[in-house]
Amino acid sequence: MVDTKAYNLISARLSARHVSLVAVSKTKPTEDIQALYALGQRDFGENYVQELVTKQPQLPSDIRWHFIGHLQRNKVRFIVPFVHLIHGIDSQRLLVTLDKEAARAGRRIDCLLQVHIASEETKFGMDINEINDLMNSTHGGKSLPNVRVRGLMGMASFSDDTELVRREFRSLKSLFDTVKASFFSGDEDFSVLSMGMSADHETAIQEGSNMVRIGSLLFGAR
Ligand SMILES: *Cc1c(COP(=O)(O)O)cnc(C)c1O
Repeated sequence: MVDTKAYNLISARLSARHVSLVAVSKTKPTEDIQALYALGQRDFGENYVQELVTKQPQLPSDIRWHFIGHLQRNKVRFIVPFVHLIHGIDSQRLLVTLDKEAARAGRRIDCLLQVHIASEETKFGMDINEINDLMNSTHGGKSLPNVRVRGLMGMASFSDDTELVRREFRSLKSLFDTVKASFFSGDEDFSVLSMGMSADHETAIQEGSNMVRIGSLLFGAR
């Protein structure tokens, strides 16, 4: 069930702080997406390729679809024709595949590099060295003309320890600033820092997030 009151409060609060809201609609029916669309929401996030390609044609064409899950290289071509932003680029091989498939589709695709910031083992993402290697070998992604690296994404530990979560977000913001200064000086392309979910978005925004991905606060528990 969509909580329209929560949506109105959250979206007003975020827009006042210039933070973009991606409404995470994974596992939720298209009716729920329509309900938020009717209130003006246009950015929606999905985690699963099959679910996204099933929902996309049933919904308004001006929705900006964010792919926020783990993306397998053999699935890239299914979302490339319409996706707005891919948040989870976690290897150079995936970025190269995306460049190739984007060329084939005649598009330039915006993406974020996913950084592993959590102390947990299970979350996907690259470490600082892998990010630096990728940036060096692709000149900030510019040697791949059909992709555009717009920023970084990360997920903090799933933990009640707010200070741990805060430190993880802070380390991602610091890496964002370093990458921006090293590879994108004087270039506004690299401007998106996607961090924060239902439980931790306040902390993420305090630490410099400008894009949050919120599901259960808007759509109810999954
Ligand atoms: C599911 C998911 C979210 C949203 O999680 P909530 O806790 O429901 O807000 C955000 N980001 C990613 C990558 C997700 O998989």
